[in-house]
Amino acid sequence: MAEYDYDVLIIGAGPGGYVGAIRAAQLGLKVACAEGRATLGGTCLNVGCIPSKAMLHASEFYDAAANGAMAAMGIDVTPKLNLPKMHEQRVDAVSGLTKGIEFLFKKNKVDWKKGYASFVDAHTVKVGDETVTAREVVIATGSSVTPLPGVEVDNDKQVVVDSTGALELAKVPEHLVVIGGGVIGLELGSVWRRLGAKVTVVEFLDAVLPGMDDDVRKEAARIFKKQGIEFKLSTKVTGCTVKGKKATLTLEPAAGGAAETLEADCVLVAIGRRPNVEGLGLENIGLELNKRGQIEVDHEFRTAVAGVRAIGDVIPGPMLAHKAEDEGIAVAEWIAGQTGIVNHDVIPGVVYTMPEIAGVGLTEAQAKEKGEIKVSKFPMMANSRAKTNHEPDGFVKVIADAATDRVLGVWCIASVAGTMIAEAALAMEFGATSEDIAYTCHAHPTHSEALKEAAMGVMGKPIHV
Ligand code: FAD
Ligand code: NAD
Repeated sequence: MAEYDYDVLIIGAGPGGYVGAIRAAQLGLKVACAEGRATLGGTCLNVGCIPSKAMLHASEFYDAAANGAMAAMGIDVTPKLNLPKMHEQRVDAVSGLTKGIEFLFKKNKVDWKKGYASFVDAHTVKVGDETVTAREVVIATGSSVTPLPGVEVDNDKQVVVDSTGALELAKVPEHLVVIGGGVIGLELGSVWRRLGAKVTVVEFLDAVLPGMDDDVRKEAARIFKKQGIEFKLSTKVTGCTVKGKKATLTLEPAAGGAAETLEADCVLVAIGRRPNVEGLGLENIGLELNKRGQIEVDHEFRTAVAGVRAIGDVIPGPMLAHKAEDEGIAVAEWIAGQTGIVNHDVIPGVVYTMPEIAGVGLTEAQAKEKGEIKVSKFPMMANSRAKTNHEPDGFVKVIADAATDRVLGVWCIASVAGTMIAEAALAMEFGATSEDIAYTCHAHPTHSEALKEAAMGVMGKPIHV
């Protein structure tokens, strides 16, 4: 009889866990995956990437009809919002994809253990009433919304909500106040702004989108303001009272000073996410967390406890689905005795607003800290396709090492920046110089030509500006 029930037990079926489980099974391992949620796919498929993009996509159509963008192209329409139908297509998208993972589990013979998992020892885990043993256990439990003291979320009442609640609002708020000018705040703020809400974003720092290149942060704020989103930067929320369907927030300058109040019929708390570790029984295996509440791992995703590995949002690094997925593949390969690689220096990030905002590699400030650099920016206004499509906002910025010309970072604001950034990531993964990109033939007319022109600009010779 085998020593363990499984070669691998993965805890959590988000993009990290489910991808890792499938890859491990493909590599011939006997695999189980524990998931407490009623459906597979984790945050991303159930309440994150997918439903938010369903609402962003649909609201973009509504906005194009309502804001005159369609009329400018000779299509006169007066849109009528059918919000229940918009929610229905969101739910359909989620349901189709989560069922797809269930199908893939069956196809690859991954056993889904239904229930929340808790360690008994490093190789033994309780999942509901069942006890499962495995040679290797992978923690892929993801993350949850960081609470803001004094601002209590109640998604059922739909007055103070988190991202999950904000995806499901039954009516368009009159005034939505978003606490946090990060990715969630700007994506979901955009959805409800497009559907007619007044939106105010309250951000603690002096600029939105922390972690992105400074030029991008400035230009993004300018574009969102033009779209009607109001910003209160360098401002903190110190309290919130709810009476019936109204919330009153107390705000103060981040540096301290006179308080003011702000009324809203909906408040979205989007100040970040924190790793899911509660209830996992980490104390039973003696696994400690770092100062940020994350599980530290080495390059093989091994924790400090032999036989226990961790991936995805629960470990350090950007909290992104594709980063979790790549780690899922890599951890399975390590467990199977292969070499699993994730290049954490080249992980693209995309904000799916209109225009989209994307970046990969170092910001200009980070690159400057490392040495001499060359920087070039090409405006989307000078890109023929963007201009023809009435999408003049944004730019592509290429940052290269001054001595070697190797590309260190690419930043992009454009309607299809999320798609364009894949090329930059691929180039960087292959160690490309800006000259390599500049001398690669790009199809015309495409938004991607802006990346080629920005790369040409690094050498001082763009054609179209
Ligand atoms: P998760 O997806 O969080 O999955 C973890 C799973 O583990 C969950 O299903 C949970 O129920 C389960 N679990 C937890 N504890 C236990 C336990 N003890 N036992 C059993 N199961 C357990 N990222 C992008 O890259 N692109 C996007 O467009 C994007 N949009 C987002 C939009 C929103 C609104 C949000 C909230 C997030 C978004 N993200 C996006 C982030 C993305 O969802 C996460 O980075 C990704 O889901 C992390 O994957 P994971 O596998 O680490 O964890
Ligand atoms: P975030 O870290 O992107 O932004 C949070 C913002 O809240 C920051 O700007 C921060 O300065 C601000 N903040 C923190 N405390 C505050 C306070 N008390 N008052 C006012 N502002 C405050 O976090 P998020 O937007 O909640 O997103 C969480 C995670 O989900 C992110 O790490 C992101 O990677 C992931 N996500 C990704 C996507 C995507 O890839 N398109 C979409 C949504 C979410």
